[in-house]
Amino acid sequence: MAVPESERLSDEELAALNERLDKAAPDEVLTWVNQRFGARAVQMSSFGLEDVALFDMFWRVNPAARLATLDTWRLPTETYTVMDQTRLRYKTRIEAHQPDPEAVAALVAGQGFNLFYRGRENRVSCCHVRKVEPLERALASIDAWVTGLRRDQGMERGSIAIVEWDAAHSNYKVNPLANWTFDQVRSYVDEHAVPYNELHDQGYPSIGCAPCTRAVASGEDPRAGRWWWESDPNAKECGLHIVALATGSR
Ligand code: SF4
Repeated sequence: MAVPESERLSDEELAALNERLDKAAPDEVLTWVNQRFGARAVQMSSFGLEDVALFDMFWRVNPAARLATLDTWRLPTETYTVMDQTRLRYKTRIEAHQPDPEAVAALVAGQGFNLFYRGRENRVSCCHVRKVEPLERALASIDAWVTGLRRDQGMERGSIAIVEWDAAHSNYKVNPLANWTFDQVRSYVDEHAVPYNELHDQGYPSIGCAPCTRAVASGEDPRAGRWWWESDPNAKECGLHIVALATGSR
């Protein structure tokens, strides 16, 4: 399913919308998402601090808001714990998109279980099989995906818009927290007693798969703990958000 041509915003309409929503609070953005897309919109969550705060907001706007994740089968136990806490707290189903078992088996048979430590090519292959391909499948059936990206996370995220046309998937990508800081997210989570990943209290600002995430020292870049053995500091993305950015979604 893709957003039909007749329902797409023109470039001018998208620019005017972003001008308005850039000044709006995240819940106003989510209200727009809900009114325009209803059940054709899904939050894609990795259950980091931004994502749990964002789903709390989305759920307050619409208690039937859809929540999805990529279960790579290599996530930390603490992430599965917060997923269960979220299910119970909001009485919601988490749509878990998992890798193709045959593709994982082939990758492991050829390159080993911990292939990602042996070269960037292996790591990218693993991320592709466990994350990118399942995301492509997930996005094929929705008209809008909602993310917890923030501009001050740096890298390609520095110039994201609130609403972007994702040309690669023929749908809209919505980033209601684009203008927020980490401190705002933290305050929201505390104020609303949102269940969050306990690894955040152990020095993990950014949490991905267990073998590819470590704690960071005070003052270190928040994403330094992701694929820390790789030397390129600008290569701290797994491909999930780059695809849309590179294909003219904003
Ligand atoms: S983060 Fe690591 S384990 Fe997870 S998909 Fe990427 S390379 Fe594989």
